[in-house]
Amino acid sequence: MSGIFGVISKNKRCMNQLFYLGDYHSHLGTQFGGVALSGRKMTRKIHNISSSQFKSKLLDEYSSLEGNKGIGAISYEEQPLYVKSRFGDFCLVINGWVNNWKPLSRELFSKNFSFSEISNSRINICELVSKLILQKGSLVKGIEYMYSKIEGSISLLILTKKGIYASRDKYGTSSLVVGKSKNGFAVVTETAAFPNLDFKIEKELLPGEVVFINKNGLQQKKKGVKKNLKICAFSWIYTGFPASCYEGVNTEKVRQNCGRCLALADKIKPDLAAGVPDSGTAHAIGYALGKSIPFCRPLVKYTPGYGRSYLPSSQSIRNLVAKMKLIPIKEVIKKKKIVLCEDSIVRGTQLKNYTLTKLWENKAKQVHVRVACPPLMFPCIFNYSTRTKKELVARRAIKAIEKKEIKDVSQYIDDKSPKYDKMVSWIAKDLGATSLKYQKIDDMVSAIGLPKDKLCLYCWTGKR
Ligand code: SF4
Repeated sequence: MSGIFGVISKNKRCMNQLFYLGDYHSHLGTQFGGVALSGRKMTRKIHNISSSQFKSKLLDEYSSLEGNKGIGAISYEEQPLYVKSRFGDFCLVINGWVNNWKPLSRELFSKNFSFSEISNSRINICELVSKLILQKGSLVKGIEYMYSKIEGSISLLILTKKGIYASRDKYGTSSLVVGKSKNGFAVVTETAAFPNLDFKIEKELLPGEVVFINKNGLQQKKKGVKKNLKICAFSWIYTGFPASCYEGVNTEKVRQNCGRCLALADKIKPDLAAGVPDSGTAHAIGYALGKSIPFCRPLVKYTPGYGRSYLPSSQSIRNLVAKMKLIPIKEVIKKKKIVLCEDSIVRGTQLKNYTLTKLWENKAKQVHVRVACPPLMFPCIFNYSTRTKKELVARRAIKAIEKKEIKDVSQYIDDKSPKYDKMVSWIAKDLGATSLKYQKIDDMVSAIGLPKDKLCLYCWTGKR
């Protein structure tokens, strides 16, 4: 995932708002944070944020960054890109991923284009997007052309001397929302950035829509197509911030709905519901409300030191941090039948080694794991993902049951089939849980509240 944000201020400087917009998107990326500003001249700053927060890096430059409009990104690669072109200077940020980047880059090489930015030994996706846009006679036509060429999803912001172009990807996979305040406009991936900066939602862009924003307001440059919407369901389950809304649906409320659905589908009688901090918390609150049992915190996260502790790239350091950041509270755990809610299970190793182990070591009587979404079967192909199919615990379970890798996993996806039950039992045993239940896909969809055909459910079904 990435988060993109921009601001146009009626005042001389927009840096204060840009700084906080960036800070409120920090949960969406772990590697790079960058901003670009346009005033008398165009400037940009990009930082590696893998070992410290974006705001702490940006603070040193805060007073030197001038301009009344700016954009930024928290991302897996270096952004914004600064481009000198026949359309004038512009800066670009993207949120998304291009699956066919290899054939597209070969096509561009054959037309004598070259790439100068390299990220993780591959071309920079933001640069690829800029090169595609530059093939046409205007920025808007170039954006349309880029959408016609890519497989994946790209939402973007382009900062020019006159204003900001904003475009949401053609399926609306990630959200892009324009806000208005008395001092100007902002455009964000996460609406959680708005309330404390006094912005009110003006418009959520439709799939494929392009708008131009300047201090006078918003001009539509290309209509969006509502019926193309396939927004990422995982935004509500895990990646989004609780205070954010996408398509008008609040994330915290969806997570509570998920927990409630899990509770209503459950026959067990636990003493308390707990969430794996932080993203399991709201699911657990919903579970507790659904069962009329207390919500408690048997494990607390030591936020002051480990706020960004998942960032280290080395697995051994990640494991050490995972061990250190959650502190068990024996007085809450001992002799209790605990329901532990989790947003999703990817590999399952941290849940097993550093969460459940702590509950058992502190004499929990039972630990029932409840997961807010179905088993993850496919890595995301619409946004940046570091997961591989093989790593997913559901795939490991299938391999163990079948004694080989199999291609057709449809019976394991079908939650009414005996193979699905076998897979869940295998994972429960592997985790060391008293019991394990995953949310049914239709319950997750009803917790979100949008029509099923408007959601991307590829992670779970392999279909879009
Ligand atoms: S594949 Fe999963 S994470 Fe990716 S957009 Fe679809 S639901 Fe979201």
